[in-house]
Amino acid sequence: MSSLPFNRPPLGGREFEYLRQAFDRREFSGNGDFTNRCQDWLKRRMGLADALLTQSCTAALEMAAILACLEPGDEVIMPSFTFVSTANAVVLRNAVPVFIDIRRDTLNIDETLIEAAITPRTKAIFVVHYAGICAEMDPIVAIARRHGLMVIEDAAQALLSTYRGRPAGALADLGCFSFHETKNAMSGEGGALIVTDPSLAERAFVIWEKGTNRRAFKLGQVDKYTWMDCGSSFLPSEITAAVLLAQLEEVERFNSERQAVWSRYDEAFTDLESADLVRRPHVPAHCQHNSHLYYLLLRDQATRDGLIEALRVQDIWAPFHYIPLHSAPAGLRYGRTPGDLPVTDRTSVSLVRLPLFAGMCMEEADRVIDGVQRTLRRPS
Ligand SMILES: *Cc1c(COP(=O)(O)O)cnc(C)c1O
Repeated sequence: MSSLPFNRPPLGGREFEYLRQAFDRREFSGNGDFTNRCQDWLKRRMGLADALLTQSCTAALEMAAILACLEPGDEVIMPSFTFVSTANAVVLRNAVPVFIDIRRDTLNIDETLIEAAITPRTKAIFVVHYAGICAEMDPIVAIARRHGLMVIEDAAQALLSTYRGRPAGALADLGCFSFHETKNAMSGEGGALIVTDPSLAERAFVIWEKGTNRRAFKLGQVDKYTWMDCGSSFLPSEITAAVLLAQLEEVERFNSERQAVWSRYDEAFTDLESADLVRRPHVPAHCQHNSHLYYLLLRDQATRDGLIEALRVQDIWAPFHYIPLHSAPAGLRYGRTPGDLPVTDRTSVSLVRLPLFAGMCMEEADRVIDGVQRTLRRPS
């Protein structure tokens, strides 16, 4: 039987056509026509917030950390159950990630633990929408407003997800998306920064282009461009943007194909959950998700590792996910962890992700379902 990968990036169909146009125009560097079209696409879906394409979500998070004016020793509250980039962006400003636990149901930051972690040094809260299911943004933003903190969404996985009908990525001050090849729309590497707070937009465009006002110059607003602020080369090339536009134009289709597989998994595993053998993802009624990933929580690490191995033997690739940041070597060196994080620790060792991508056929999904059911129902 053929190998079933965890991810197989789909093609929108017009990638080569758009690349050819970029080549024909001899437009390769950033901030050209394809970049603008991608940014307009994002802007329309983000309630008209400003959108800046970046080389990655990592880069967008780094821009957000600069825009949050983090100073050495400042603190940023975030979940430990996330990708390293969320914390690295803070550490690169010599600021301190403060790690708190996640909710048992959605695996997102536990908003009830935020207030106790706030100190006079706290500047911001970084929120992650795990699996494309939004964190509890209304209470989080309310806490932030009460304490004068900025809220930054790591919405890497959440393109077109919504929270109470509002788009993920534009629910707070700044939002960061990823277009890495494992995400719902991809350009190999890629990302975007969404700026919902209009007072940050002008500075964002300066940071984006090496700390210069080159964009204002291009728009004819100033007659020469110069070094205005700190910054870096955060913008991607037109080659990346051409591929991304072809993907964004088809991402609704990609998402509905993902959703078909997600729902088939979820239905099939109802019985295993009733038998207390697995826990399935929890989607709050007020959150619409983009079927970014399907995971199962197993009873313990041995069961989880056994399932991964049993699937691997059938050539099905089902990986685990985040190793907690608070207890990783760099987390111990750079971070602060005010208390135990029992849900994070337990989730990390018991979670498995199942193959899920646009274009996956139902026979492939059924092969995974069959593999999981047979492994977990086997008397041990
Ligand atoms: C994928 C991902 C990132 C990193 O995205 P890149 O575009 O690869 O930099 C950051 N945070 C989360 C939660 C992610 O899932």
